[in-house]
Amino acid sequence: MKRILVLHTGGTISMKENKETGEVNTSEKHPLDEISAMLARETEIEDEIIFYLPSPHIRPDHMLKLGQSIHERMAKKNYDGVVITHGTDTLEETAYFLDLFLQTRKPVVVTGAMRSSNEIGSDGLYNLLSAIRVASCDEAQDKGVLVVMNDEIHTARNVTKTSTSNVATFQSPQYGPIGITTKTDVFFHHKMTRYDSYPIQSINKKVSLIKAYAGMDGTLIDAVRESGVDGMVIEALGQGNLPPDTVEAVRRTIDHGIPIVLVSRCYQGVVQDTYAYAGGGRQLRDMGVIFANGVTGPKARIKLMVVLEMTNNPTELQHMFS
Ligand code: ASP
Repeated sequence: MKRILVLHTGGTISMKENKETGEVNTSEKHPLDEISAMLARETEIEDEIIFYLPSPHIRPDHMLKLGQSIHERMAKKNYDGVVITHGTDTLEETAYFLDLFLQTRKPVVVTGAMRSSNEIGSDGLYNLLSAIRVASCDEAQDKGVLVVMNDEIHTARNVTKTSTSNVATFQSPQYGPIGITTKTDVFFHHKMTRYDSYPIQSINKKVSLIKAYAGMDGTLIDAVRESGVDGMVIEALGQGNLPPDTVEAVRRTIDHGIPIVLVSRCYQGVVQDTYAYAGGGRQLRDMGVIFANGVTGPKARIKLMVVLEMTNNPTELQHMFS
């Protein structure tokens, strides 16, 4: 029998809808209590509430505490896998943080729900059951942190919330899911080829995320730098370009020793130094801007916060993002 640790952090999966007002909020009795009984014959479940937070309230220090709690519990007991329930709004950031932080080959699966526990078509219990089945599956080992929702298995690195309300919200644009679940089986069809792992002890660096737009100038970049950040992520245009009026603010920021990581605001493709015009990727790269591929702006921010705990040496940072 597999032994699975289930850690709850809050979110819609642990909320109830008020049938009179339609409001959705945290409920007094944990709606997922019944799960242990349902799985008792095949899986030994130990569950624990770590936080009771809607996911817009989750901060990087909660993510670190969650990661440390997983390490502590896994060191004390031989769990076969871990499942985390989480609100969907920031689920991908927590999942990616855990992917960077955890040092385990065992399956770690994050799940959530788009409909609260007493709504018609509620997906919480089903997603939790699927997540537990994936975490119990030997093939789920060595795949990094996984996100299981709506019969699909995604990597923490590639998954993103794409719809505000559809139960099929979690997608991995460009890459697709790495597997699927059915009522009886778990099928994997891809494997991650690269892992980074950073065993940090704290997460205190201030990193801001800015989105580029047509006609942008350097006001926002200068203001963010002057607010005292340790790093900045910019969601740039297209292949990794910025409007020309931002260039001097970018230069000032790098000259102040504040690293700038560039991703694209496009949700597919890679950033590269193709264009040599003012503000083009070539000029930004030559100025020392770090190009990050395969992650969204919010995830690049989590990674920059994590790696800045280890170094702010520009060459090492370039290497960590390459
Ligand atoms: N706003 C909710 C949260 O992220 C949404 C959800 O859980 O699906 O906590």
